[in-house]
Amino acid sequence: MTQDHSRYILHVAVPRPLRTLLSYTCADESAPKPGSRVLIPLGKQHAVGLVIRVETAPPEDADSRFTLKPVEAILDTTPLPDAHLLELLQWGARYYHHPVGEVIFSALPVALRKPKPLSSRLQKLLGRYEAPSLAPVERNHLQLTDEQQQCLHSIEQWNLQAPLRPILLHGITGSGKTEIYLRLIAPLFAAGKQVLVIVPEIGLTPQLLLRFAHFFGDTPMACLHSALSDGERMKAWLQARSGEARIIIGTRSAIFTPAPNLALIVIDEEHDASLKQQEGFRYHARDLAIKRAQMLNIPIIMGTATPSLESLYNADTARFHYVRLNQRPGTTRKPDLQIQDTRPFELQAGLTPHSLQAIRTTLARGEQVMVFLNRRGFAPALYCPSCGWQASCQHCSVKMTWHARRNKLVCHHCGAEQATPLRCPQCQNPQLTTQGQGTERLELALQTHFPAAVVVRIDRDSTSRKGELEAKLATVRSNDPLILVGTQMLAKGHDFPNLTLVIILDIDQSLLSTDYRALERLGQLLIQVAGRAGRADKAGKVILQTSQPDHPMLHQLVGHGYTPFARQLLEDRKRWHFPPFGYQALIRASSTASMEKALQFLEQISQLLIVTDGADIQRLGPIPALLEKRANRYRAQLLLGSQHRAALHAALLQLLNPSVKLPGRSGIRWSVDVDPIDF
Ligand code: ADP
Ligand code: ZN
Ligand code: ZN
Repeated sequence: MTQDHSRYILHVAVPRPLRTLLSYTCADESAPKPGSRVLIPLGKQHAVGLVIRVETAPPEDADSRFTLKPVEAILDTTPLPDAHLLELLQWGARYYHHPVGEVIFSALPVALRKPKPLSSRLQKLLGRYEAPSLAPVERNHLQLTDEQQQCLHSIEQWNLQAPLRPILLHGITGSGKTEIYLRLIAPLFAAGKQVLVIVPEIGLTPQLLLRFAHFFGDTPMACLHSALSDGERMKAWLQARSGEARIIIGTRSAIFTPAPNLALIVIDEEHDASLKQQEGFRYHARDLAIKRAQMLNIPIIMGTATPSLESLYNADTARFHYVRLNQRPGTTRKPDLQIQDTRPFELQAGLTPHSLQAIRTTLARGEQVMVFLNRRGFAPALYCPSCGWQASCQHCSVKMTWHARRNKLVCHHCGAEQATPLRCPQCQNPQLTTQGQGTERLELALQTHFPAAVVVRIDRDSTSRKGELEAKLATVRSNDPLILVGTQMLAKGHDFPNLTLVIILDIDQSLLSTDYRALERLGQLLIQVAGRAGRADKAGKVILQTSQPDHPMLHQLVGHGYTPFARQLLEDRKRWHFPPFGYQALIRASSTASMEKALQFLEQISQLLIVTDGADIQRLGPIPALLEKRANRYRAQLLLGSQHRAALHAALLQLLNPSVKLPGRSGIRWSVDVDPIDF
């Protein structure tokens, strides 16, 4: 009998922009398992690939023996992603129309993307499976309120029903949602199971970790987020993979963490835009989490004070179970929300006389104030009053922000920096002026206005050095009276018991935006920020400063609260067949040459779609993107919409079919974004 050199055929994903798997032969005694890496020849190179499927080659299949190349080496004996995760990754690649190898390899720790076997030390960690049973730790837990108890009870009942449905926990800020997560996790934890907790921002993780550590004692936890070193990430990943880490907490990419004993997924702040990856493989961690839970038939709970319209709609249509927490333990007082018309006043430090007075009285009571402005830097514009010149970025179609302390002009879109000119580059006028305000200017103005007060600014600029954020947060937690100047970073997760006044500046732009998601996001932000005011037994007050005090949606939000506001927005979405009443995909293209080129490319794509789709796809555009030029690229977009998800996906599939001849694209970069949230 002749020795068969093609005993197996391996279908392999490679980290290249390919939409198909590549096939190789393997003549080893035993084939590698799906999920293992192999070393493969790829063109003239060697590359790493991940085995997706293994077939036994029929002996008579002479063809494959001659056309397929053999793999060069098998790198793993234990699969890296387990079978479920591998299935999820492939589903993600199909759903988001992204090359499967890129999806899979971007989900692996960097060390595993290399064409090298694991060290024997790591290999050992990978192989360990036995889940040590722990003696449950007895702790002094909080006594759940009646409302929390009922909420927990409903969730537990639902989780016994088949089929399982995702649970939307809509609880106001501070209503004790985290406490619910902890109680759901406890029995699973005791049973040796694993739980995956996804949080939107790393800033929130330390506090949450402390809560978990306090509740569960010395629980083996793995924490995965973007600030980890490669080594730390690898270690956390392996601990999750082996089943040792019982609780896995991380930001969006943690959804790809292997966990052989996964029994529950928690998504905290399910509405948060940072759960959507905006580059490369553009996935939504919440939506993938729902899929993962469904594949494993395990419960998933999504908590938020401000549900996304998608989730609210899913609750309305009974696709999700819906449960509410309306009270804050220990207090019944909700913050008092007021709209302040800025138009009749000459603003000082950007604040109306009423706001300034409110700050004064709050500080006098020994309490804390937060002034929220979602714009970093000193001033968003530097201009010449004599000729009208403006400092704008050379690489983007935006003005540069002046950062006074560093005396630099900074582009907030591409990061370009430039020295502040001493005189106008156009007319040599030495008296340049600034316009508008950022947090740096606000901090200075507040300090000038309240010389005796402590002013603490927390934004990305003031906390970039290690330890700075912690130090500033510690100052605020001392509960001494002070004024906190904050951005997005402070919108959620932080609990400041002595903070009783929140003033929100500059929301006009969002109120007037043409982006159909802008109002939803503004509503969520306002409610989240307002949620910072008043904890424990102190009533909170929130002042919204705006030049659009009569905006009907603002009245809806302030007068009736988030849910009626969101339902009203849903009505509008329904009328326009926008998500969740229709499905969208955004095709983006950019060119270094000109806007014309980018638009032309998309016009051709659009024509192709007419030919392939039929009547079910609506096309909006192509139009220039909101930010027309960024980092030297002219950006355009084509929005596709359909009332039928399948039709939209079929059209995309057609378009991305390797046999379709795409228009010439020299210098063009383009991408597909399924369920886009950012325009
Ligand atoms: P959320 O996650 O909804 O914002 P948390 O779970 O963080 O709310 O709870 C807010 C605060 O209320 C925390 O300081 C928490 O310790 C406290 N808390 C939660 N549940 C209770 C309870 N049953 N009794 C007393 N305090 C509670
Ligand atoms: Zn000038
Ligand atoms: Zn720029």
